[in-house]
Amino acid sequence: MTLRIPLTELQQRDRKSPGLLNKIILLEHKPRPDCPHCGSGDTAKLYVGSLNDRYRPYLASITTRLKLRPNDVRGGYWCYRCSRGFTKEAS
Ligand SMILES: [Zn+2]
Repeated sequence: MTLRIPLTELQQRDRKSPGLLNKIILLEHKPRPDCPHCGSGDTAKLYVGSLNDRYRPYLASITTRLKLRPNDVRGGYWCYRCSRGFTKEAS
């Protein structure tokens, strides 16, 4: 797990909004490609931020496996080591 908050806090939040913990676990275990630039496995699913979407920013504040960018490759991934986005097809 690569959580930004303590697991106990996540469990407390899950009691207030049931399903949250499950959603985070799914994000954590979802297969992600390694970075094609540096080979790092420290990558995240990338979402282009939307002003109307408040749930994804919330999820992204809990797990590093979801990364929000105002402008970037749609449907791509993010490498924490390179600090840049990439698509699965990129090589
Ligand atoms: Zn990289």
